[in-house]
Amino acid sequence: MIIAVSGTPGVGKTTVSKLLSERLGYEYVSVKDFALMKGIGEPVGEEVEIDVDALAREVRAEFSGKNVVIDGHLSHLVLADVVVVLRLHPKVVAERLKSRGYSHQKLAENVEAELIDVILVEALEENESVLEVDTTGKTPEEIVDEILELLEKGMKKRVGVVDWTGAYDDVLQYLMLGGD
Ligand code: ADP
Ligand code: MG
Repeated sequence: MIIAVSGTPGVGKTTVSKLLSERLGYEYVSVKDFALMKGIGEPVGEEVEIDVDALAREVRAEFSGKNVVIDGHLSHLVLADVVVVLRLHPKVVAERLKSRGYSHQKLAENVEAELIDVILVEALEENESVLEVDTTGKTPEEIVDEILELLEKGMKKRVGVVDWTGAYDDVLQYLMLGGD
């Protein structure tokens, strides 16, 4: 089974994906490393620009019928058996990305994306099975336990577990809202 773990940068995808793959005995795959290895990702500064259609094709060719956890904020665009979308209170997203040294603009883009559920919406457009998990205030172990419980129950779709409409005031200082 292919499990994709997606979410806004900083929500904990890599941490959770590694732990989840260990607990399940699945292979861990980073979208970024996989794309570079397959020659479908181009390093641009510190980031990697990935051809998403090629990514979806290559993932299917390489991992169909295998057990993998795919980590990355584009992983929800591949055809996965389950997409786990990690959510995190936008204020904590902002704090984590700030400590990663993100520019004001990149910080704003990502905090805004978390506020308005961008990755969740895209995941639902692309995949049948989407499990949304609120990671706020939880340890990686608690998050993985929650995911494993949903998988064991055979849950196909669980969305609507967070609502960040009340969080705008907490992150106003980070937002650009179309301006600069
Ligand atoms: P992503 O891969 O989504 O960008 P990371 O897994 O790299 O996120 O995590 C971002 C930062 O947050 C790292 O410093 C990581 O140690 C920390 N972190 C991840 N998950 C948690 C958690 N559940 N609680 C506290 N800190 C976490
Ligand atoms: Mg990561």
